[in-house]
Amino acid sequence: MATTVAGARLISLKATGKLGYREISHLRQWAPVQSAMMPHFGMLRCGSRQIFSTSVVKAQANAVEQSTGEAVPKVESPVVVVTGASRGIGKAIALSLGKAGCKVLVNYARSAKEAEEVSQQIEEYGGQAITFGGDVSKEADVEAMMKTAVDKWGTIDIVVNNAGITRDTLLIRMKKSQWDEVISLNLTGVYLCTQAATKIMMKKRKGRIINIASVVGLIGNIGQANYAAAKAGVIGLSKTAAKENASRNINVNVVCPGFIASDMTAKLGEDMEKKILGTIPLGRYGQPEDVAGLVEFLALSPAASYITGQTFTIDGGIAI
Ligand code: NAP
Repeated sequence: MATTVAGARLISLKATGKLGYREISHLRQWAPVQSAMMPHFGMLRCGSRQIFSTSVVKAQANAVEQSTGEAVPKVESPVVVVTGASRGIGKAIALSLGKAGCKVLVNYARSAKEAEEVSQQIEEYGGQAITFGGDVSKEADVEAMMKTAVDKWGTIDIVVNNAGITRDTLLIRMKKSQWDEVISLNLTGVYLCTQAATKIMMKKRKGRIINIASVVGLIGNIGQANYAAAKAGVIGLSKTAAKENASRNINVNVVCPGFIASDMTAKLGEDMEKKILGTIPLGRYGQPEDVAGLVEFLALSPAASYITGQTFTIDGGIAI
């Protein structure tokens, strides 16, 4: 069931009743350490933080439930904002993080129906979702989006800046409007969301930001001067944000996909597709789920807690 709240479509939640261990196991990085729980859970140390060991959590939580008959205290799920999550790569990321037990704000610009379906799917996995329509190149929309997540769930732990567009043409023919549109969403949008998220994360000294750039930002591409410039800009912005916020325990990383099957690549046409496939050592397009897997690792895994300011290509070998 969906209700409208402050410009956002809120997908109401089914009461799950009992704590699912799937939720704990995926979220050990984010679990607040509750002193009452300390004797019951195996802990790992990672930097200044304590994190739960998955198998130990499962085994010990089961043992506690069986011996006391009491439910284990609820572990908080991380709150995630995914921009451009109605389709393609963003959708796959939102679903992957929702399935892992996160509370997900699903942002879109125009595709309200598709975005609501993503939220509903997360709900079917037993997760929580808010569908939020807003243009992330606009400061007021970004502020409203972050506020919606904070009002609903109290905080933001992870932001995935995925929303992006292309307006391809040769540089010599590129209109200023085509340049501006791409820079405005693909670079300024990432700046606005990263800045807004950082303000929330730095207070609690914890957070992860993953920016989706492109292999084109590393190697350039004919017909994509605007797009390549924006994506290269995202890499520089992310490295700077990583340096500025490392002392606050906020990790900022970049994922650079190559050619991934989505609406963005579908419009390239058959001839272009053939040419592109010839440039990919693995000989095929990637799938949105390939990118989502890498993002999930960077967003949730304790093993990613010592990674910041890095750029990861996931491109079938294009940039080798
Ligand atoms: P896509 O299928 O075209 O989806 C784009 C998403 O961005 C949609 O959810 C769209 O929402 C949203 N969006 C567009 N304008 C927006 C705005 N102003 N504010 C908020 N959201 C907006 O694209 P994709 O292929 O999944 O690409 C996702 C990201 O990966 C982009 O940053 C892209 O540059 C990058 N990437 C893609 C590839 C690839 O091969 N596909 C390769 C390298 C990098 P609506 O549905 O509402 O329009």
